[in-house]
Amino acid sequence: MGRPQLYERGKDINQEFADMIPVATPSIGEKELEYVCDAVKSGWISSQGKYVQQFEEQFAKYCGVRYGASVANGTVALHLALALLGIRRNDEVIIPALTYISVANAVAYTGAEPVFVDSDPYTWCINPDKIEEKINRNTKAIMPVHLYGHPAEMELIMEIAKRYGLYVIEDAAEAHGAEYKGKKVGSIGDIGVFSFYGNKIITTGEGGMILTNRQTWHERAQFLKNHAMSKDQRYFHSEVGFNYRLTNIQAALGLAQLERIDDFIEKKRKIAQTYNRLLGDLKGITLSPEASWCKNVFWMYSIIVEDGFGLSRNELMNRLSENGIETRPFFVCMHKQPPYASNLELPVAERLSARGINLPSSVNLKEEEIEFVCSVIRSFSA
Ligand SMILES: *Cc1c(COP(=O)(O)O)cnc(C)c1O
Repeated sequence: MGRPQLYERGKDINQEFADMIPVATPSIGEKELEYVCDAVKSGWISSQGKYVQQFEEQFAKYCGVRYGASVANGTVALHLALALLGIRRNDEVIIPALTYISVANAVAYTGAEPVFVDSDPYTWCINPDKIEEKINRNTKAIMPVHLYGHPAEMELIMEIAKRYGLYVIEDAAEAHGAEYKGKKVGSIGDIGVFSFYGNKIITTGEGGMILTNRQTWHERAQFLKNHAMSKDQRYFHSEVGFNYRLTNIQAALGLAQLERIDDFIEKKRKIAQTYNRLLGDLKGITLSPEASWCKNVFWMYSIIVEDGFGLSRNELMNRLSENGIETRPFFVCMHKQPPYASNLELPVAERLSARGINLPSSVNLKEEEIEFVCSVIRSFSA
């Protein structure tokens, strides 16, 4: 089978990969243009304007949570969540070792210490059985991450948190709309955090959101993100706050994207089905999981390259690249990053990190592009 024609792609998206099948590009339609133009024309181009509140309310409603506070990106959403809970120096926060760097950095910004836990070999998320051994009197919170769109084992995590009096902040930056036992992720812990970066399930360019059912936390998030300015006295600041606000233009984009989220998720799940069908019988390839108790949104459809495959992970990525297919390696483990380096041994996270590949997963990916990707992978199998 030949290379699919991709001339129409990349004209306005990413010149560098104009000729490549990309890992993830956003889908921006007429509604997005309409709302964004409306926001720009209205003159409300900073953080005031009707779209900010609408986006907050609609996104919270979509997730089944009472309150939403929009922020400038997912990283500051994580930081603000920790800050509003009072997490600070000498505290410890439990996070998975295999995740994006934002999670560890957000903890570090507060002065607290991120404590790394190994991955579950099946879900690739934090292994709930490895959490308890990391808890001590300094532990204040657990931050599970719904990695690549697959929900973490929330029931077990909530149970541990309750037993030890810990907060749970869900990092749902990669899993908008994913469900754990029928509940949307981000609605289960004390606080749910989202990112709307360009490659996420829905995007505002840069952006983030904090969801909670507790009014006092929501109000504190809105207060801290606006320089902790007093409601009653302008330019009076009772503590050190932040400028973490989302703009009305970004919120307009987000609102239009939110109207299409069900289509995006359906498309992601269909892409996963196609990959599963075309790669399912390949020796030495483990596919993206979906536990029976959840709905995975397959933010990034991924494979693990096992020993039994013909090539190593990096060799396969190189071959795919030579064939015009962009991929990403799995995240580097937190305990292997210079700022957080330690000689901890977390074998499952390390193994996944060394062997995982994110395959092209854009919602605008064509069926024949998936077929092409799979045919290239198959051609290198032992
Ligand atoms: C993308 C992401 C974030 C941070 O989002 P930004 O908006 O890029 O700051 C946080 N956590 C995880 C797991 C992510 O994938």
